[in-house]
Amino acid sequence: MSGLLSVLDWAIRAAFVLLTLAAVADWIRHRDRRHAYLALAFGSLMALVVVSALSGTGVLAQVLTDIDLVVFLLSGYALLMFRDSFISLARRKRRAVTIGILVVAAVGVAAQLSADPRAQQSPLQAAITVLVLLTWALCVLEPTLRMWRASRGRPAVERARLRAVSLGYAALVAEVLVVSFAGTAAQNQTFTLVTSLVTLAIVPLLYVSFLPPSWLRWLWRQPEEDEFRKSLHDLLLYSPDRATLAQRALVWATRLVGGAEALIVDADGTMLASRGMTDDRAAELVANAQPEVNSRRATTLVIPLHLQQGDGRMVIVSGPFTPGFGDDEVVRLRQYASSVTAGLDRVSLTERIASLEKAKTDFLSVASHELRGPMTVIKGYLTMLESGALGELSPRSMRVLPLLIAKSDEVNWMVEQMVEASRLEEGRVVLKKQTADVMELTDRAIESMRTVLTGRELKVDRPSRVINAEVDPDRFQIVIRNLLSNAAKYSPAGSAIKVLVSRNGWTRVAVTDAGIGIAPEEQARLFTRFVRIETQSTQHISGTGLGLWLSREIARMHDGDLTVESTPGAGSTFTLQLPLTR
Ligand code: ADP
Repeated sequence: MSGLLSVLDWAIRAAFVLLTLAAVADWIRHRDRRHAYLALAFGSLMALVVVSALSGTGVLAQVLTDIDLVVFLLSGYALLMFRDSFISLARRKRRAVTIGILVVAAVGVAAQLSADPRAQQSPLQAAITVLVLLTWALCVLEPTLRMWRASRGRPAVERARLRAVSLGYAALVAEVLVVSFAGTAAQNQTFTLVTSLVTLAIVPLLYVSFLPPSWLRWLWRQPEEDEFRKSLHDLLLYSPDRATLAQRALVWATRLVGGAEALIVDADGTMLASRGMTDDRAAELVANAQPEVNSRRATTLVIPLHLQQGDGRMVIVSGPFTPGFGDDEVVRLRQYASSVTAGLDRVSLTERIASLEKAKTDFLSVASHELRGPMTVIKGYLTMLESGALGELSPRSMRVLPLLIAKSDEVNWMVEQMVEASRLEEGRVVLKKQTADVMELTDRAIESMRTVLTGRELKVDRPSRVINAEVDPDRFQIVIRNLLSNAAKYSPAGSAIKVLVSRNGWTRVAVTDAGIGIAPEEQARLFTRFVRIETQSTQHISGTGLGLWLSREIARMHDGDLTVESTPGAGSTFTLQLPLTR
């Protein structure tokens, strides 16, 4: 047993020496107050472990005890100052604590305390021993609790690091107090074995709190991974504009590396979004941030964003809880940055498409309204010429008039579709529904398309009873006229066009032609705005590609639908179905 205990003793000393060396190396890399205090805190613990192993007699024993006492208090003070380096103490408090500790150390040295627990102590010495212990315990417990509380709500890696240091020190306090008040039980070998094992276990905890290896960071991060993936998905898919996307992207960018401040600079050098900083600070960062990506000492990370319009930057500044950035976090941030870049480019593209769409809609609206007036005038004069109201025309002129009237009807019909389509796009279509006889409205639509239907054999299959439906009569006729006009346009002269009005749970109007038909793979596309099926047989037929889209939208606004059944070469049937009037 005693052999094992002495091995453990050596292991503890070695572990504390290594811990201190690592902390000192880390301090040399960073050279800041925070790392200095952490190295001092660990270094004083190491000194304590080493000095307490030395023994002496007489004056030497007393000197060693006094060194022990001072180093012991120093280890508590250094931890408190470590806490102060990122969760600041008030100045007055800091000064009072420093003076208090100095006084306690002076009193402790003056009292000539003994390191030997079996030595006889005067009541004053016992009281001073308790005072020293309590001072140290308070110095350590306060930051321990404070860091534990601060860990709440922090990113996973930071949280785990703060908790590791808290746990390590809490265990140390518990152990020191138990050993101090255990009296003679402290001589028991099993007791010594347990306390040695606890001391040894504390070292790795303290180590991972400031230099966690990559695999451990990865393990700590796992619970956050799902949340991260989900928010990345939402970020990329549902961000309405680049500024919002950039703003949202910074939330996880800072979480991933535990940064306190962050910003994204666009390709043109302007700031897209910032987080955790004032405008002045942001301007300063935009002007000064140079890439420092590969440096372990980096406190400012600059990740380039290779955007389509040029290179932008994501800048992250490390926070008080993050002493610098770990290499793996930097790699992750780079991967994240490329997703953000793709997201920003996607939004740019969507914004460009939206502005093109808007331009198209605006053009449609302007063109259709500008064409409407002149076309009404042309149609009016043609009708007057035909009726002879403007005088006699030569027989040759009279022969071309019907063609001119048919063509002007065709253009008028296109303009009407364009006007209606631009209204629909601007959200200005309000249905004026009323109960109407569907057959009667269909007849009116057929009547208005007489010229277009010339040369086709029209068959109308009427219902035996009146079918009423709640419809906007004008819009209903637009749909039927469109189906009739298409049936005529896409079928050969002389062929039959059948109109069937029926009821079968729904009101149905089916228009069937014996025309060119539509290939199955094209049928789904027909109802998309501006889509025209370009084949050899349709290339000479004029159209806007708006009719079927408009017709289906109108049908759906009536809670109905417009569907197609077609066989290439044999013909097509378009069916409008609307709810019946209850
Ligand atoms: P437009 O007829 O002005 O081109 P539509 O939206 O009315 O626009 O029709 C879209 C496309 O659907 C047409 O270009 C045509 O290729 C096809 N189409 C429409 N109706 C028929 C039909 N009855 N027979 C064959 N093809 C049709």
